[in-house]
Amino acid sequence: MNQALPATAALVASLPFPTVLVGLGDRVIVANAAALVLFPGLRPGLPLALSLRAPDVLDAMVVSRRDGSNHHVLWHERVPLERVFDVHVAPVNDIEGSAMLVLAFRDLTELRRVERMRVDFVANASHELRTPLASLIGFIETLQGAAREDSVARERFLGLMHEQARRMARLVDDLLSLSRIEQTLHLQPADQVDLGDVVAYIADTLSSMANQQGVTLKLDLADGVLVRGDRDELARVAENLIENAIKYGGAAGDVTIGVTHINHSALFSVRDKGPGIAPDHLPRLTERFYRVDAGESRSKGGTGLGLAIVKHIVARHRGRLDIDSKLGRGATFNVYLPLFRPNDA
Ligand code: ADP
Repeated sequence: MNQALPATAALVASLPFPTVLVGLGDRVIVANAAALVLFPGLRPGLPLALSLRAPDVLDAMVVSRRDGSNHHVLWHERVPLERVFDVHVAPVNDIEGSAMLVLAFRDLTELRRVERMRVDFVANASHELRTPLASLIGFIETLQGAAREDSVARERFLGLMHEQARRMARLVDDLLSLSRIEQTLHLQPADQVDLGDVVAYIADTLSSMANQQGVTLKLDLADGVLVRGDRDELARVAENLIENAIKYGGAAGDVTIGVTHINHSALFSVRDKGPGIAPDHLPRLTERFYRVDAGESRSKGGTGLGLAIVKHIVARHRGRLDIDSKLGRGATFNVYLPLFRPNDA
């Protein structure tokens, strides 16, 4: 029989994940809306195999019918997108229908991506820490051995050791900031913050770094741009973006920093005239530890986490980060933030 009771059909139709009920000859009886998104060609009465070309799943259906047993099979879809599903195949017997099978598809793609990111993250963080640690151990061993009585070498090594230790401390600080922001990502900060004030303060603290590099910070900060935010976190955004502009773009000229109102939002922008960023790097720039040139970043004291922190803070503020750059034409980082409204208080 190729029919299900209305209650069975309604149950399948109501489920949120792709679910298909098939009858004799593996012909489709009911496919819910989510299944039709996954397999637009599914039609009642047509064999499932016309839409689902997955030998493992079809084999599991044969076994499930034969034994009356449930099965889980992984199905990798390669086109149009690479996705992976856990397909649950189970026999169903309602009163009218017999020898029916239900197939439920659980999309594991996101879960797998997050798991891969976690594994990559741990590997990257360990690698970043291991490098300065290895050089610290090397210096300590040299000081205990060959350079024990050499006061000139000792001074030099202590300086290098200090630099490596500071690098590790910066990395740990950035990792802790990132994890703190992630824990509160769902909570939009609610304080009234004068964005121009925060940016002016940070530009001031970075002015000596800019001077050392021969960079002029040009400020164009509108008064009274009040955003809904967390002052310390917005200061980190300003610090990371201005510092990057000085580090990577400053050698080629001034850095222009703006705060203004735009279309019912606040806009904080940092523009440099540096080498810019190639288009293929742009989408990945805010990933943790992603750097265009890892050697250059490390030599400038970078941890590779600055833009990831910026992205998370902006997301927590329900704002947006846009990066606009062309190779050889400098880079502009625009942060759009919601304005503070009196009833936010
Ligand atoms: P880092 O600690 O390496 O500076 P970020 O997350 O702040 O880490 O930046 C990631 C990478 O993005 C940098 O290593 C650099 O390659 C690139 N980048 C960031 N800002 C700029 C800029 N203003 N101009 C050119 N490249 C930049």
